[in-house]
Amino acid sequence: MSFDYLGLSDELLSAIKDAGYSEPTPIQKKAIPSVLQGRDILGIAQTGTGKTAGFTLPMIDILAQGRSRARMPRSLILEPTRELAAQVEESFVKYGKNSKLSCALLIGGTDFVGQVKKLDKGVDVLIATPGRLLDHMQRGNVMLSGVQILVVDEADRMLDMGFIPDIEKICKMLPKKIQSLFFSATMPTEVKKLTDSFLKDPKEFEVSSPTQTAVTIEQHLVKFKGTDSIKRQVLRHLIKAENVSNAIIFCNRKKEVKIVNKSLQVHGFSASELHGDLHQSTRMEVLTAFKAGKTKILVASDVAARGLDIPDVGHVFNFDVPSNPEDYVHRIGRTGRAGKKGTSFTLSTQSDKKYLDGLLKFLAKDIPLYKIPKEILEDNKSPRHSSSGSKQSGFKSHEKVNNSSQRNSLNKKPIKKQTPQAERPIKRQSSQNEKEIKKQSSQDNKTHEKTLGMGGHMPDFLNR
Ligand code: AMP
Repeated sequence: MSFDYLGLSDELLSAIKDAGYSEPTPIQKKAIPSVLQGRDILGIAQTGTGKTAGFTLPMIDILAQGRSRARMPRSLILEPTRELAAQVEESFVKYGKNSKLSCALLIGGTDFVGQVKKLDKGVDVLIATPGRLLDHMQRGNVMLSGVQILVVDEADRMLDMGFIPDIEKICKMLPKKIQSLFFSATMPTEVKKLTDSFLKDPKEFEVSSPTQTAVTIEQHLVKFKGTDSIKRQVLRHLIKAENVSNAIIFCNRKKEVKIVNKSLQVHGFSASELHGDLHQSTRMEVLTAFKAGKTKILVASDVAARGLDIPDVGHVFNFDVPSNPEDYVHRIGRTGRAGKKGTSFTLSTQSDKKYLDGLLKFLAKDIPLYKIPKEILEDNKSPRHSSSGSKQSGFKSHEKVNNSSQRNSLNKKPIKKQTPQAERPIKRQSSQNEKEIKKQSSQDNKTHEKTLGMGGHMPDFLNR
């Protein structure tokens, strides 16, 4: 079935063609005609299913008639994170290129005054995170009485982030007669209550259940015993052995994100980090560089796990088993998007056991085991704990990639000596990185030494 039969305008069909889409995804087939008919929607859909186009495309056609007024947006899209909001804006720009619709993005961490100026000019589509929108509403910068269409995207994520009360507040300020589109990957009770009270006779559809992972993702579980330092060694081995062209690596904690990223950089990989501690403009820069292929590896916390539209990610690595099993589906859903083939690796040591048990129960099936060559694990231990190995050499001797021929396309080119000015900041950065990783590595060593002190065995409780 082609897009021609969904009732979209010629201008949109031309933009869709330019986007390179030949046929609608299942959610688009279901959502687009219903939205065009003015119906409320309740879509249970994961990211990667094409749901953004499912609501933006018909909205562009509906909003094509009519004009915006100052401070009174004609439609409102609520997103749980700044990155998702920015992505939806990108979609409007891409699909709406043949329309005259104006769009504004109200997210934290960016210029407040600039946002007010945009609102003053009048916007057709307002895309916002709940906190920043409420801020503007309280200051009288925006009124919702002119909103005709409301989209609440990733409603379950909103719940996780504590935004449901904010959404309720926002919904109370909307006109009674309004078309509402709700999307959520899962349907927890709190979200169900909200949709029951807000949606009128919605068209409901489910594209895939939350435990279903895309069939195009080849999943692997890598189980071994070892410290975080060994995990990083295993990670590097996999990146090289699997001929990874680009990847997202997820960690459970921000601290780990920073350590893994720095470790990869020190080993010459083209990596960057994405987590909630970064300033909004830095987060955007990091994402843009990754999307453009300037950085090949993105080490991320779960803030990046949902909804980020990064096409063509070949691999996802879970440096830890996620504490929330549903995050596994969202994490690995960054690869194998829109029918493309993807691969995921989940690293699990004894400290992940509890989460791994929970995950396998949730998935109700095993993840195929992937065997790591023994020497990858053994190589790590020997230099660090051998009687001849000095303490200082602990990090470098076992973590440094000595053999440049081992480096694959993800390794940065060696930094050429240029002018002293050009060289100094790179060197400073690198030695700082090494210091931090050495510190972490020595912490890893201590844990390991303790366990070795107990006859070389590693009882589980020491690693929790
Ligand atoms: P989403 O689930 O909205 O985040 O979209 C996931 C990815 O699918 C995005 O990279 C879209 O550009 C892409 N996409 C959306 N609709 C289609 C389509 N009909 N055909 C091919 N790719 C699509």
